[in-house]
Amino acid sequence: ARWRQEFHGFGVFDATTALAVQRGMAIEAELPQALSGGQLHLLYQPKLRPDGSLLGFEALLRWTSPALGPVPPAEFIPVAEACGLIGGITDWVAEAACAQLALWQARGGNAARAHVAVNLSAHDLERRDLFEMLTGALARHGVKATQLELEVTESALTRQPAQALQQLQRLHEAGFTIAIDDFGTGYSSLAKLVDLPIDVLKIDRSFLHQLPGDLRRERVVRSVVSLAHSLHLRVVAEGVESGSQMSFLQALGVHGLQGYLFGRPELPGHWQALMQQGRMPSEAELAPLDPA
Ligand code: C2E
Ligand code: MG
Ligand code: MG
Ligand code: MG
Repeated sequence: ARWRQEFHGFGVFDATTALAVQRGMAIEAELPQALSGGQLHLLYQPKLRPDGSLLGFEALLRWTSPALGPVPPAEFIPVAEACGLIGGITDWVAEAACAQLALWQARGGNAARAHVAVNLSAHDLERRDLFEMLTGALARHGVKATQLELEVTESALTRQPAQALQQLQRLHEAGFTIAIDDFGTGYSSLAKLVDLPIDVLKIDRSFLHQLPGDLRRERVVRSVVSLAHSLHLRVVAEGVESGSQMSFLQALGVHGLQGYLFGRPELPGHWQALMQQGRMPSEAELAPLDPA
């Protein structure tokens, strides 16, 4: 019966692969309409300072396809990269984020001080026109570079390191804030990090899963935070879901906290009260979520 088991296992593997290929092809077929058909929108998730005040937002892309329903970015971004559609998508994201920034800016007060972060893919860093595209979007909406944060992953920096470094240097000089996203999940050496023109490390949420309590992960997070401090980088923790995670991170001296504990990615209108008050409406919203 051994061969049967193997055969069966193989069959399951094949079926799963076939499904994934089919899904990829469906996404590839529908993706061009995402841009031309106005099927994309941005959601915004807040980042807070340890005292609860508003630091900024991360813009997260959503695609609702009439044929496929909602498709998460983790699924369609890689397809967009593979079939050459990522450039147009990033253009759209930059434009929409700057338009939103301009709207918030026009309201004044706390809203005017918040930044918006957009995610760039590895392919974006290989674009010759990236700088012009981003500065063009800023100019069209009257937004300053200092208000737009660019999140790039470690792996995006290791594909074409020399080119990526050049791009980041130019963007950094122009005033854009550069953040390394999902820090700790790539393979970039700490030695290389020292030479990069970056401002922020975002600790990947996978490090927060068993926190606090898992001593080894606690030590990793602690040392990433102290590394950031000693390099004069700001450090933001993503994926904060519990009050005990929040307290642990606050005690370490992180600069920013982002996660479901404070809010999920939402349409801009959802954050009106947060914008007006410049902080999370009440302690009650932060603390009691964690039963521990
Ligand atoms: P990311 O940039 O690391 O974004 C954070 C992801 O974690 C988001 O998933 C967010 O919804 C999720 N998240 C935030 N807080 C929590 C939490 O407390 N718990 C859990 N479990 N998850 C949390 P999302 O929106 O599905 O995006 C996934 C990834 O897709 C992003 O990871 C980013 O790499 C990529 N992405 C999203 N928007 C864009 C975009 O406009 N352009 C590009 N190139 N990539 C994008
Ligand atoms: Mg990000
Ligand atoms: Mg991230
Ligand atoms: Mg992440």
